[in-house]
Amino acid sequence: MNAVVSEEAGAGGGAAAAAAAAVTLEELRKKMADFARERDWEQYHSPRNLLLALVGEVGELSEIFQWKGEVPKGLPGWEERETEHLGEELADVLLYLVRLSDMCGVDLGKAALRKIDLNARKYPAGPGCRPSKKGAHCSDDTGDRRDDCGDVVAVVRADEIKEEHAS
Ligand SMILES: [Mg+2]
Repeated sequence: MNAVVSEEAGAGGGAAAAAAAAVTLEELRKKMADFARERDWEQYHSPRNLLLALVGEVGELSEIFQWKGEVPKGLPGWEERETEHLGEELADVLLYLVRLSDMCGVDLGKAALRKIDLNARKYPAGPGCRPSKKGAHCSDDTGDRRDDCGDVVAVVRADEIKEEHAS
C-alpha cells in the first residue's frame, strides 16, 4: 500500500500537491484498480482479504496513538516524521476502504453522502443535541432528553436525568 503513496510523492513538488488537493474518490478507485492489475494482485483482492487488510491498517493507525493519552487537535508537539507516518497510515486505511468498496460494487462517495443525510435526520442539529457515552441524544424544549433522536425514541424526563447524574 505504501507504494501507492510513495509513487505519488515521487512525482514531485507543487504539481503533486495540487493534484492531491483535488483528489476524488473516483481517482483513487481507478488508481487502486490499476495498481492491482499491473501487479496481477486482483486475484488476492477478494472482499474478505481486503477487509482484513483494512482492519490491519486500522491497527497500524491505532499504534501511532497508543500510549500517548489524549491527543489535542492539530497534534501540537508532534515531530514531522510522526505526522508523516500518520498520513501514511490514514492513506492506507482510505485506500483499502476504497478498494473494498469497489470490489463490493458499492459507490463509496454516494453511500457516504447518503449516510450523512441519514445521520442528519437521525440527529437533528440544535443546541440540545450532543454526543454522549450512550450515543447521541437531544433535549427538547422541556429539557427532557430524547435518546436516539430520529425515528424514535425513548423520552427521558428531565427530572429522571437529574436523578441519573445524582446517582
Ligand atoms: Mg500501513
